[in-house]
Amino acid sequence: MNTAAPQAAEIDALVAQAYALRHTDARAALALAEHAHKLALACDHQRGLAYALLRRAVCLSILGDAAPPGEDCESLLQQAVSLLRSLGDRAGEAEALNQQGVRLAMRGQGEAAIGVYEHVLALRTATDDQPGVAAVLVNIALQHRDNGDLASALACGAEALEAARRCGDARSLAYAHTHLGVVLGALDEPAAAEQQLERSLALVRTTADRAHESTVLVALAHLKRQAGEAAAAEAGARQALALSRATGNQSDQVEALVATALALQAQAAHPGASALLDEAALLAQRRGDLGLQAQVLLAQAETPRALGRPAEALPLLAQAHQLAEAAAALQLSAQAHEALSLAHEAAGDLAAALRHQRAFQACERRLRNQPAQRRLRQFLQQQALASAESDAQAERERSAQLLQALDEARRAEQSRSQLLAELQAQAELLQQLAREDGLTGVANRRWLDLQLQRETERARRFGHPLAVAMIDVDHFKAVNDRLSHGVGDAVLRTLAGLLRANCRASDVLGRYGGEEFMLILVESSLAQALEACEKLRERVACHDWAVVHPALEALSVSIGVAAFEAGAPDEGLVQAADHQLYRAKHGGRNRVCG
Ligand code: GH3
Ligand code: MG
Ligand code: MG
Repeated sequence: MNTAAPQAAEIDALVAQAYALRHTDARAALALAEHAHKLALACDHQRGLAYALLRRAVCLSILGDAAPPGEDCESLLQQAVSLLRSLGDRAGEAEALNQQGVRLAMRGQGEAAIGVYEHVLALRTATDDQPGVAAVLVNIALQHRDNGDLASALACGAEALEAARRCGDARSLAYAHTHLGVVLGALDEPAAAEQQLERSLALVRTTADRAHESTVLVALAHLKRQAGEAAAAEAGARQALALSRATGNQSDQVEALVATALALQAQAAHPGASALLDEAALLAQRRGDLGLQAQVLLAQAETPRALGRPAEALPLLAQAHQLAEAAAALQLSAQAHEALSLAHEAAGDLAAALRHQRAFQACERRLRNQPAQRRLRQFLQQQALASAESDAQAERERSAQLLQALDEARRAEQSRSQLLAELQAQAELLQQLAREDGLTGVANRRWLDLQLQRETERARRFGHPLAVAMIDVDHFKAVNDRLSHGVGDAVLRTLAGLLRANCRASDVLGRYGGEEFMLILVESSLAQALEACEKLRERVACHDWAVVHPALEALSVSIGVAAFEAGAPDEGLVQAADHQLYRAKHGGRNRVCG
């Protein structure tokens, strides 16, 4: 008993060291965990034993085939789970289960992995482990991504981001950004993807997680290559390769090798690429990861394709396709079909080319289905809103500074009139730049125009519905004339609030000019938009306007609605809504036409 206590402390220290080292030097971490395991067995330190088992399993999992032979990661994990559960250590149990989820995911059992992760989520929620909650949400999000369910991947990623923000956990925050970056890349939004990945890179460099840094660098390298910056892509991928070699993480190595090779191929450096891919193929095969093997084969086929030798590319691609299907990796299947279609076409087999083109399109449809697009738009809009808010804040601050400078300059001397004029012009420009309408607080015309253009593009690209409503106050001039311009202004402010409160958060409301507002109804057909606008009209008509001014009787709006039709020109939508507004006015006002 005298030696047990110091030994327990030693075991705990070893286990902690192994944990700290796992992503930096998995081999050294494994040795520490094994030593802890032996000591724990000898002195019957149950908790130490459980964690030593868990750390050994984690290190083995990271090392993959590079781990010493004869070790059974699954059985170590199961022992750790059972022991931790019997000890009532819920945090430890959650960690061990989480690792089981990771292992299931690796073997392509995605649904089972999500089930285990949900259990981890419940345990961590119960113990109020917020960073843990954020981390497992990222795992669930990653799994949705691998299953090809990009809508859930995005939604869950945003949830993880929120959770990580709430608890300020840099690691989880970085993981959530990385995940979102990769999903946005898959959804063909390179600018938004890069933004996420750059944020992640900055965060991850503040942590000791070199494995994660390598993942981020690889994802950024793919984006750069796709943007035509092959040399920059190569530099980033090589950094990732160096990092992954240092940590000993084999999956990371394969991914970095593939990214480097693809960047080299893009610069026509085929021999260099092929050497790297040979190494990657060997590692991926030994690791037994089907998705990784498919990735390597796809990259290997790129060289014969680029050199005009489709017959050599075809067998590689066929094998890549088989592996992608076996791994149930939808995105890789899509890539394989697309490459097969191109290779068959180059080889003159047009029937096969068409078959694969159709299969490619079917995969793409599944990946970029409506829910995914809806989530994507929501996500991007939230981001745009967040940055618009911070821009507006910055602009307000800069405006205030300029006004102060203006004031000082004015007081200082008259002769500096030129400076005054400049400052004045700048202050005006900043005001112009602000997105908010000064009177009502809703979006201004400039922001409306931008959003309308963006939403029209999106609707056209994905064939989604989109509607626009023009809302005009009836006989507004009479309010100004009878009760004053001030009351007129108050009416406009109240009206903006009413409209905002009664439309969906995802709709864009703005002041188009004067007493006219515009509402952009995303994902709405004409029928849905008419229904929503009828509700708005009714709310305005029923509002107790006497609150604004006692002499103010009932007030109403007329609304014109138009919906986007595929193939219609851009200007059409606003013009058509205006025309409907004209009809509403002439039909007697206080009505919706569309
Ligand atoms: P209709 O039912 O045909 O729309 O009649 P109306 O009186 O609402 O339309 P009209 O276009 O004749 O008048 C619009 C008025 O809105 C004229 C303008 O002075 C007033 N207006 C425009 N901008 C503002 C503003 O910012 N504040 C106030 N108080 N009034 C404004
Ligand atoms: Mg009017
Ligand atoms: Mg008007």
